Amino acid sequence: MKKIIIIGGGIAGLAAAHRIQREINDGSDLDCMLLEGGDRFGGKISTEKSDGFVIERGPDSFISQKPAGIQLCKQLGLEDRLTGTNPGAPSTFVYTGGKLVTMPDGLSLMIPTKFLPFALTPLFSLFGKIRMGFDLLIPKKADDSDESLASFVRRRMGEEALNKMAEPMLAGIYASDPEKMSIRSTFPMFVETERKYRSLIIGMLARKKAMLMNAGKRPATPYSLFMTLKDGLGEMVEAAIKKSPNIQFKSNAKVKTIEKMQEGWRVQLEDGWERMADAVILATPGAITAKLLQPIAPDSAELLSSIKYVSTATVTLGYKKEGFSHSLDGFGFVVPRSEGRSILACTWTSSKFPHRAPEGYVMLRCYLGGALQEEIAEKDEETLAALVKKDLLEIMGINETPVFCKVFQNHKSNVQYHVNHSEKIDSIMEDLKNYPGLFLAGSAYRGIGIPDCIQNGNQSVESALEFLNTKSE
Ligand SMILES: Cc1cc2nc3c(=O)[nH]c(=O)nc-3n(C[C@H](O)[C@H](O)[C@H](O)COP(=O)(O)OP(=O)(O)OC[C@H]3O[C@@H](n4cnc5c(N)ncnc54)[C@H](O)[C@@H]3O)c2cc1C
Repeated sequence: MKKIIIIGGGIAGLAAAHRIQREINDGSDLDCMLLEGGDRFGGKISTEKSDGFVIERGPDSFISQKPAGIQLCKQLGLEDRLTGTNPGAPSTFVYTGGKLVTMPDGLSLMIPTKFLPFALTPLFSLFGKIRMGFDLLIPKKADDSDESLASFVRRRMGEEALNKMAEPMLAGIYASDPEKMSIRSTFPMFVETERKYRSLIIGMLARKKAMLMNAGKRPATPYSLFMTLKDGLGEMVEAAIKKSPNIQFKSNAKVKTIEKMQEGWRVQLEDGWERMADAVILATPGAITAKLLQPIAPDSAELLSSIKYVSTATVTLGYKKEGFSHSLDGFGFVVPRSEGRSILACTWTSSKFPHRAPEGYVMLRCYLGGALQEEIAEKDEETLAALVKKDLLEIMGINETPVFCKVFQNHKSNVQYHVNHSEKIDSIMEDLKNYPGLFLAGSAYRGIGIPDCIQNGNQSVESALEFLNTKSE
């Protein structure tokens, strides 16, 4: 019986475990143990339920366009638990010039695809709009080297599009500095669009047209862009464990060392417990993986340790609906750094998703910190709560006392994909070929979103199974 050890019980490790379970269900003779250093599974995914509120500490949803998230939910029997964003034409706002301004209709990520709403929006100045329109004329980049998000947007659409859209919306997703983050590793579709169509606007319009023409041919998707589960993403974690009965899940099992022995890999915990494996999947955050690899694969370890993580915090507040001073008519807002606020973004959670707040209540979630304001995320809970309440009062006019205010600090939690990240990952993967039996999974490599982590968790198992098959031949 071949032995596999998975280190790390975040979504990448759990997806890998369930992928192995499916292999066992199909008759493979595998022994698999998942070792999680903490006292709970799920890693960044952590849902708290209290008095009818569903509160997410980390991620609150995943995108449906990348299929691995929906697919895992189906495999786990959670299809009827999936829930999308509330229907309608939701508004998202940008806080600019001291006001919440609606994002114009037809703005796809940051690319205008409808003329009139774009021409009329007060979000951009006339000069800003004309500069964005230059995208129609500007030639494409001469070479295919990587560049930062800021350099890409500045080049194609100008400074205002960068400051009002790309920085709060796009870099915001990654809690990253647009001057440092890799366009190729974070928004490869922009790079492809420029390569294929030269202009982002022309490319986006061509895609829209193709989608409309194919609309009748393809079945309409039942999923909204962002999906979650009725009782929160924690449902996915619980189901992955429950539906993997042949996998041994061990919590409070912090791995201290991995050693190459003649008969395979020896994995040792901090408390001295140890076990041998034929294959090891490291699904730990990059910095931890670097430490574990240091004695055995120092080149990979050095590259991995250069991948930065930054701190963020979320503050979730619940309020009585009766007498609440804001209509919460939309999904929330983002705040450009130039506005000088503490919060980066605020999701009007009870308007965006069903099942999040009980009848008669509303709930908001604010996001703070990230690469540009990391010092804010490092402040104590009381200060974070006070900063958020001040911003909510000044931005939305909320003066009411919340029924609860929960602060979650995510210390060095958000991985940063800097320029040339993909080359770094290629070098790590190449170097690891010298250490057969070791495989990597998780958000440090080729995608931070939950579907990306599931996808590469599955991929790591496929590589491990291929290795075990060749080994036994
Ligand atoms: C605040 C926040 C909001 C986010 N929002 C979204 C969102 O809305 N949608 C989305 O798709 N993505 C979102 N993300 C990104 C996404 O949540 C993460 O990229 C993903 O969950 C990471 O999964 P993972 O399995 O790679 O790592 P992790 O979840 O970090 O799991 C790694 C696990 O390894 C364990 N571990 C560490 N050291 C050891 C050791 N020595 N031995 C054993 N175990 C160890 C840890 O305890 C942890 O459980 C968000 C991330 C953050 C931080």
